[in-house]
Amino acid sequence: MARARAQAAAGQAGSALRPRRRSAVKDGRPENTHPLNRGPGQDRIPLYESFLRFAEALARCSPAAAHRTGCVLVSFNLERVLGAGFSGGAASARGRLGGARRRDSHLHAEEHALLIAGAVEKDKLMFVTEAPCLLCAARAINSGVSHVYYRTATARGCKGLELLRRAGKAVIHYPRWRPRSAGPHPIGLVGGRLPPRMTLPEAYQHFAEALALRSTDGSQKVGCVVVSGDLERVLGIGYNGGAAGIDDRDFIPADRSGYVHAEENALLKAGAIEKDKVMFLTHTPCVMCAKRAINSGVARIHCRQPNQRGDAMGLALLQQAGKQVVWWKGEARRR
Ligand SMILES: [Zn+2]
Ligand SMILES: [Zn+2]
Repeated sequence: MARARAQAAAGQAGSALRPRRRSAVKDGRPENTHPLNRGPGQDRIPLYESFLRFAEALARCSPAAAHRTGCVLVSFNLERVLGAGFSGGAASARGRLGGARRRDSHLHAEEHALLIAGAVEKDKLMFVTEAPCLLCAARAINSGVSHVYYRTATARGCKGLELLRRAGKAVIHYPRWRPRSAGPHPIGLVGGRLPPRMTLPEAYQHFAEALALRSTDGSQKVGCVVVSGDLERVLGIGYNGGAAGIDDRDFIPADRSGYVHAEENALLKAGAIEKDKVMFLTHTPCVMCAKRAINSGVARIHCRQPNQRGDAMGLALLQQAGKQVVWWKGEARRR
């Protein structure tokens, strides 16, 4: 709590000194110097926040007893998740390998995510729940990370941040984002007390929820995350909306919704080369998206709730095609 209060105070002091440029920055954070963060301020969840919420959900998957952190690596254009990890063992081993008794035997979240992403792709963006340690900062530098977004700073992360700055990397403190109408920022999910453990499918489901908030469709906001069959890699993400980066509403006939569906956006990115994919959705798919999922090699679909149109044809088709449908029961009902 004391740390959170100190950070809040530091944030207020910082904002008082900053020039008044908030209206000219998309996510309202002038310190976020990423080139895609230009343009008039907007009141929908920034992608940066969606990725940090995914990192927070991943932190809750960690088997570590005390120090649970999450990390997400994203392509420079913000379109692809290149790697994701939490402190502990390998995601599929769920922390069973490597002695949990030794404090230093866990992989750090950043290391885990960097191992999955590799170093072929440069200028990656790193989203972490806590500022990285010195060694993870060096790993990020050597693996071609250009921007680091962190939720909280700890004593452990001070030298890491210093090293990243010295290497010319953009280091951005990103407190939890909320719409302007929602009042001050609450403490993040992993700040203070350790929240209950979460499974990896639940973390992906939370990511889909955080993406849905970006939808520009006023009637139903859908989020979609497509991952590999072993749940280790995110292959595509999407939400329902128009053509990326432009206003295309003038082109849409009045009797049509004209939105590209979340599933279609995610499958466009994931492609059909990899089979047995798993799809996480906020709402059940329409029949056309069910066909898209079947034809692009999706083996299993996780959903939170039926779609608002009451269209059950998509689910029926998936089941007829032998695809598994899993309903997300939610955290509250599981515990
Ligand atoms: Zn580290
Ligand atoms: Zn659809």
